[in-house]
Amino acid sequence: MLSFWEKDSYYAHSDIIIIGAGLMGLWSALELKKQRPSLSITILERNTTPLGASTRNAGFACFGSLTELLSDEASMGTHRMLEILEARYKGIEKIKSYFSGATIQYDPCGGFEAIPASHETAAHLDDHIQYLNQLLSPITNLDQTFTNQTAQMRQIGLKNFDHLVGNMLEAGIHSGKLVNALSKLVIENGVTILYGLEVKEWYSNQNGVQVQTKNGLTLSGQQLISCVNGFTQELMPSLHIVPARGQIIVSNTFEHLPMKGTFHFDEGFYYWRNLDNRILIGGARNLDFEEEETTDLSGTEKIRTHLLAFLREHIVTEEKIEIAQYWSGIMGFTPTKEPLTEQIAPNTFAAIACNGMGVALTPVIAEKLAKMVTANV
Ligand SMILES: Cc1cc2nc3c(=O)[nH]c(=O)nc-3n(C[C@H](O)[C@H](O)[C@H](O)COP(=O)(O)OP(=O)(O)OC[C@H]3O[C@@H](n4cnc5c(N)ncnc54)[C@H](O)[C@@H]3O)c2cc1C
Repeated sequence: MLSFWEKDSYYAHSDIIIIGAGLMGLWSALELKKQRPSLSITILERNTTPLGASTRNAGFACFGSLTELLSDEASMGTHRMLEILEARYKGIEKIKSYFSGATIQYDPCGGFEAIPASHETAAHLDDHIQYLNQLLSPITNLDQTFTNQTAQMRQIGLKNFDHLVGNMLEAGIHSGKLVNALSKLVIENGVTILYGLEVKEWYSNQNGVQVQTKNGLTLSGQQLISCVNGFTQELMPSLHIVPARGQIIVSNTFEHLPMKGTFHFDEGFYYWRNLDNRILIGGARNLDFEEEETTDLSGTEKIRTHLLAFLREHIVTEEKIEIAQYWSGIMGFTPTKEPLTEQIAPNTFAAIACNGMGVALTPVIAEKLAKMVTANV
């Protein structure tokens, strides 16, 4: 039984209840406070620290590799691809406007995409580069967002690829420091975050919302926002968000690692970076889509071994490459790769499925969500 004091403070009725304290939940709370400072907001997070994608990703501040953007254009059309790209670009700018480079270890190291000769873009690579540069120029304010860097491959520290495309706007960040700094800012803005509370069920009607937690607490609010991303299936199965596990390994530390920057391969399915003279590499989900469609964080030997073999094949180093650390994170995907921001029931909203692009997208999606929610209160 809660005490009067607990009930009247931590667990008091809120204007807004947000489920999930990852980047989406945190940016949403901040944006709501910015748009309507008087709102009382409580975020419920099931773990002692966020446990999904936001603190378990690769730490890329990226807005899309060449082949990823061309593939997105083919599936969703030029206009929508550019809209999402612009949101990602603005999202990164917004992160930089809120936090100093030192606070989130923002590293404007530039990025590259390695492309094999077998890829359909390879034969006319310079034409594709020129085509996207023209499309992107009004967004990035650069004539040449992408450049052909194939001649630099060996010097950069890569081997056994055929082409290399550079994008000097890409950067690395420290995902843990970003989430930590954002959480502090959210709290400073008067939001309550309750960690260790897993929402088991929720109810909503025209008068408000109620959530029930796994440990038997009931909290009430005026509006509910779900930001549980890859775990949506458990709370809101009708939304059909597909979980997608991303696995990461980190190598031993090297005496000398010429490779600098963030790297992509295979339309973003592989990504790696230099992390203080270690290599962080993740992905290869396309090795077994079905097995990786899971919320299980354990990861598999199969993908870890594959990622290690990939490093040995492609990274220039005389030193031995071993796995020093590994982990997994869970993303949420829609069939079209477009994020979902909508009202799903009376007084209930969902902002989910950044489809593996949430570092850059969540700050901007939060603005749209906050407008939708404040129109209701
Ligand atoms: C391996 C990997 C690499 C990635 N690399 C990049 C990258 O380089 N660049 C990029 O832009 N994006 C990347 N992403 C994607 C990016 O991390 C996500 O899009 C973003 O973090 C999503 O944030 P979110 O808040 O929506 O979800 P999450 O961070 O998953 O937050 C959801 C939160 O909800 C909580 N939760 C779930 N269920 C409940 C419940 N019932 N009750 C209470 N709390 C609950 C979870 O514990 C979690 O903390 C990557 C993701 C992964 C996994």
